[in-house]
Amino acid sequence: MTVVRIRIVTYRPAQTRDLGRMLGNAVAGGTVLALEGELGAGKTVLVQGLAEGLGVAPHIAVTSPTYTLINEYAGRLPLFHIDLYRLEDPTAFEEIGLFDILAGDGVSAIEWADRLPDGLLDDHLCLHISILPDDSRQFDLAAYGQKSADLLRGLPAFSDPKSIGNEEGEE
Ligand code: ADP
Ligand code: MG
Repeated sequence: MTVVRIRIVTYRPAQTRDLGRMLGNAVAGGTVLALEGELGAGKTVLVQGLAEGLGVAPHIAVTSPTYTLINEYAGRLPLFHIDLYRLEDPTAFEEIGLFDILAGDGVSAIEWADRLPDGLLDDHLCLHISILPDDSRQFDLAAYGQKSADLLRGLPAFSDPKSIGNEEGEE
């Protein structure tokens, strides 16, 4: 399988949100986004932009579903925001109904997706976020599967990294 990859650096929280919004504008039903990166990396901020791009009403607060594990938002497509940080038993994802959600027509964004057993996700877009020494955030996006590759290739940032205001030192 050819894995399509792009690297995007964001220099401010608003740019991380822009990247999420860009994904939300373009994403098709049934897409799975696997978010990886340490606490405070920007996973939830990205999902806030994703919700905006999907047309979730602006007065709805998108927060990490740390205790509930899954939040659902109504947008152009249903958005399932999943956070596995507190998933103690790696098999418990079955109990939270994850398989049904992943198989459905909504968009799933999974924080701490690296806690899932290897190979569990079919077609998915992996977003690995690293905090760089200057506090900017490096997003390594990798599309595993045709659906995710199509999404990635269609993003404005794929052909033009500046489309998220991606210049260093910008205020
Ligand atoms: P996570 O869900 O990964 O634990 P959050 O999204 O809750 O992280 O928090 C990320 C933090 O990083 C927020 O305080 C946000 O303002 C900040 N942040 C996001 N993107 C950037 C960026 N490009 N540069 C600096 N700070 C950022
Ligand atoms: Mg979070």
